[in-house]
Amino acid sequence: MKDKIWLSSPHMGGNELKYIDEAFEENWVAPLGPNVNGFEEDLEHYLKQDVEVAALSAGTAALHLALIILGVKTGDEVLCQTFTFSATANPITYVGAVPVFIDSEPETWNMNPAALEEAIKDRIAKGKKPKAIVIVHLYGMPAKLAELIAIAAKYEIPLIEDAAEALGSTFKGQNCGTFGEMSVVSFNGNKIITTSGGGALICKTKEQKDKAVFLSTQARDQAPHYQHSEIGYNYRMSNISAGIGRGQMEVLDKRVAARRKNHEFYLDVFRDFSGVKVFTEPNEDYFSNHWLSAITIDEKIAGFSREDLRLTLEKQNIESRPLWKPMHLQPVFNNSPYYGGKVAEELFNIGLCLPSGSSLTDADRNRIKTTILSLRK
Ligand SMILES: *Cc1c(COP(=O)(O)O)cnc(C)c1O
Repeated sequence: MKDKIWLSSPHMGGNELKYIDEAFEENWVAPLGPNVNGFEEDLEHYLKQDVEVAALSAGTAALHLALIILGVKTGDEVLCQTFTFSATANPITYVGAVPVFIDSEPETWNMNPAALEEAIKDRIAKGKKPKAIVIVHLYGMPAKLAELIAIAAKYEIPLIEDAAEALGSTFKGQNCGTFGEMSVVSFNGNKIITTSGGGALICKTKEQKDKAVFLSTQARDQAPHYQHSEIGYNYRMSNISAGIGRGQMEVLDKRVAARRKNHEFYLDVFRDFSGVKVFTEPNEDYFSNHWLSAITIDEKIAGFSREDLRLTLEKQNIESRPLWKPMHLQPVFNNSPYYGGKVAEELFNIGLCLPSGSSLTDADRNRIKTTILSLRK
C-alpha cells in the first residue's frame, strides 16, 4: 500500500524546536512564560489591526470565554451558523444558552445575511432578543462580512467571529479574526498552523484580554492566598505549545501560499470535468487561505457522486471528507430553532474536501490527479 495522503497534516517550519529548547533551558515549562507572550505579540503584529490576543488551550476554549465575556447567560439565545464544525456551537451550550441556527448562502458557504435578519426579527417578535451572533469563515473563505456586520450593528447584537479555519484570510485586505467584537483562531493539529493543540481569543480592548487571561487561569483575585469571586477555567496556553506557535508564525505566509497553490492545482485538475465546481472566492474582496480545498459534484452532470469520488480516493489510500454536516441536522441539536432553506444541507450532500496540506509533494499531487482523472467519462 502506498503511503497515506492526509487531508491536512501538521507542517513544521524548523525553528519550533529552538523556542522549545529556550523554554527548557529557562525552565518555563508551564502555562505561562516568554513564548506565550511572544506568540501573542507575533499574532497581534500579524493581524495588524489594533487587537489584543490571549493565547489559550484551544479554539473551543476561546469561543467559550468570548461568550462569557460578552455576558451570554443561561436561557439566552445565540445565533450561530449551522454549516460548521460542532466546536462552533458547543460552547453556546456550555454557558447554558440556546443555539439558533442559520443557513448559509451559496457564494461563500457561510452565514446567509437575509436568513440572519429574518431570524433576528422573528426572535425579537417572539420576545427574546439574541445575545450574540457567531459567524464562521469555513475552509478559510471569508463570510459576507459587510452585510453581516451591518445587520449586527443595526440590531446592536455583538458579532463573534469563528476564524478557526481562516488565519491568513482577508476581506477587502483586512485580516479575518479582526472584524468581530471578539474573534477566535485555532492551532489544532490540522489547521493552517498548529501548536499541537491550542487557540487564541482576539479582543478589541485590553480590558477584554485581561478578563480572558484572568478567567483562563482559574479567576484568582489579588491576594497572597487563593481567593475567588468568580468561576474560573484552566484554559491558558502552555509555554511549550506557544514555542511551537512562534516557529509556525515565521512560516505562516508560506503555508498560506502553499494551500492556495493546492487550490490552483484542483482548479486545473477539474478544468475538463463538467458538473464539478471547485470552491473559489466570489470576487477580489475575498482572499481565502484555502485551508481546505473543497468541491461540489452534480452527479447528474458529472456521472459520479461525491461518495464515488471519496471511495475511489480511499482505495488509493488518499484521505478526503464530506463537507461539515449542518448543526441543525445533528441529533444533539434537534430541538434548536433553525432559519433558512436547504443550502447547507445540499452542500453537505454533494460536497467533498480534498487533500490540502501545505506539505503535499508533486508526487502526492500526481497520485491525486491520476486517481481523480480515472473517474472522468
Ligand atoms: C477547529 C475548529 C474549532 C475549534 O478549535 P479547537 O482548537 O480544535 O478547539 C472551532 N470552529 C471551527 C470552525 C473549527 O474548524
